[in-house]
Amino acid sequence: MVHRTKPAIDVRTFDVVVIGAGVAGLAFSLALPEGWNVALLTKGVLGESNTRYAQGGISAAIGPDDSAQLHEEDTLIAGAGLCDPAAVRALVDGAPAAVDRLLAIGTKFDRSLQTGEILLGREAAHSRHRVLHAGGDATGAEIERAMVTAARTHPDIDVFDHAYALDLIVQDGRATGMVAEFGSGERTVLAAPWVVVAAGGAGQLWAVTSNPSGATADGLAMALRAGVAVADLEFVQFHPTVLALAGTEPFLVTEAVRGEGAYLLNDAGERFMLDIHPLAELAPRDVVARGIQNAMAIGNTDHVWLDLRHLPDELVYERFPTIANELRGRGLDLANDLIPVAPAAHYFIGGIAAATDGRTSLPGLLALGEAACTGVHGGNRLASNSLLEGLVFGTDAASLVTGLGRPQPVDVSTLKLTTFADVSEAEDSGAIERAVDAIQRSMSQHVAVVRSADGLRAAATEVASQLAAIDAAGGNDRVAVEARNIAEAAAKVIDAALFREESRGAHFRVDFPVTEPTLDGQHSLLLPEAHGDWRFGKLAEAFDRSPATLEPAAV
Ligand SMILES: Cc1cc2nc3c(=O)[nH]c(=O)nc-3n(C[C@H](O)[C@H](O)[C@H](O)COP(=O)(O)OP(=O)(O)OC[C@H]3O[C@@H](n4cnc5c(N)ncnc54)[C@H](O)[C@@H]3O)c2cc1C
Repeated sequence: MVHRTKPAIDVRTFDVVVIGAGVAGLAFSLALPEGWNVALLTKGVLGESNTRYAQGGISAAIGPDDSAQLHEEDTLIAGAGLCDPAAVRALVDGAPAAVDRLLAIGTKFDRSLQTGEILLGREAAHSRHRVLHAGGDATGAEIERAMVTAARTHPDIDVFDHAYALDLIVQDGRATGMVAEFGSGERTVLAAPWVVVAAGGAGQLWAVTSNPSGATADGLAMALRAGVAVADLEFVQFHPTVLALAGTEPFLVTEAVRGEGAYLLNDAGERFMLDIHPLAELAPRDVVARGIQNAMAIGNTDHVWLDLRHLPDELVYERFPTIANELRGRGLDLANDLIPVAPAAHYFIGGIAAATDGRTSLPGLLALGEAACTGVHGGNRLASNSLLEGLVFGTDAASLVTGLGRPQPVDVSTLKLTTFADVSEAEDSGAIERAVDAIQRSMSQHVAVVRSADGLRAAATEVASQLAAIDAAGGNDRVAVEARNIAEAAAKVIDAALFREESRGAHFRVDFPVTEPTLDGQHSLLLPEAHGDWRFGKLAEAFDRSPATLEPAAV
């Protein structure tokens, strides 16, 4: 191991420290009152996040034939009996105002050239056209652009790019800050009475994913190490249609393509989804993903085909310019070629157990966005509800802390910081890379669209041995911590998938293929005092336990 020891670590104090500058962290930060000092961290450059890659759009019941009630019903149906009804209601009710806030900061949604009205697309399992989009299929990039511009010019938000949050600081039973490693390798403690984990998803636990490289479950792993309650980690949405072209990176082809009428064909050129679900290609994502998996198994291929050849060329190029360009670069014509696609890890439904205003089991710690599990997506997220979740619940969390008044600053003289200053790198970084690679391959093989106890146990053994290899390689710098985060999070996802002996939503077990009615509304919980034992229960058990969570900190 190579040590870089620093005698002391710098400490900076803020009112709020936010880990993550995707839609959730940005919505929270921008909604705080004037004068509050906010540290907003992103592990890459500001703007690089899952949010940026969102193509399809953001759902809101603003069409003339739509209502919050219909949006609610669609969300509950997709959620397969596991949604928290109050969370769903809060989400759909908050949608129109969330759209207004985006418009107010200059987000440019696609509009009709004739009427100027916002155009609404339709996606799988939505009973109405209710998906707002921007730049055709570049919705996330446009939302992120508008919010990042607002954050960069905000006088009270200190943006820290390339600032990697290593761990939370918990003292006297509450979160009091976190330690970050900057691009230079220097470490700093950012202390605050409110710490917000909005660190996004976990796609990089799998070998094939639609997520960018930063989605390494850091928020979840930090929370696990701090003993914070987590929930529903077995529920991972696999996007049915990610480009599966040998020798090129996976690239998501949005559901909206099927919303516009694209077909899925098997190797024999048949629309296999017609026999599987009345909504055919627009069935819920888990149904389509399993349908594709099955068609691939029958055809002994690693992909099926997405077919847009029956749609007008102009419609295809105009509506999906980003995808068409991306495919053109890979030698494919979206409008006229069959596009090879397969399911890939896409959206992490479980996470840190949280209320819709972000409260967790740990006082002082809020969790938002994809890092959180509020129960709003149940067992399967309805397409285009996640950008909305970040916007609505991010703002609700800001209202919670605002309502409690500006907090007392953390007394840094009481913080125990000795463990953070000593930085070490693994001597053999290749060993860490190989370990991560082995974990990702095992997760894609055994913890994917279709699962079994045997496969899950095989994955558990592999992950445990790779975690030992990461530990043996040593080091506590960003590279080592990120690898350990992947391993620790993967181990808990497998545990949860073994624990839930039923099939529901995105979690399908061949050995328990039926949905167990007694588990309706029952979340899998890993509570702080449980020492690794999972149990079923209500999410509120995780965050309603500590009234101190609601008090402003006086640390
Ligand atoms: C290809 C793709 C298409 C999608 N399409 C849609 C869609 O059409 N509609 C929809 O609603 N949803 C869509 N989603 C899902 C949606 O984009 C995400 O769920 C949502 O953007 C998550 O937002 P977030 O703020 O929680 O996290 P993210 O946007 O992922 O942001 C996470 C932030 O945390 C930071 N971070 C992470 N770890 C650390 C650390 N250790 N230290 C410091 N910072 C850290 C990152 O740098 C980043 O700034 C899509 C996702 C993908 C990948």
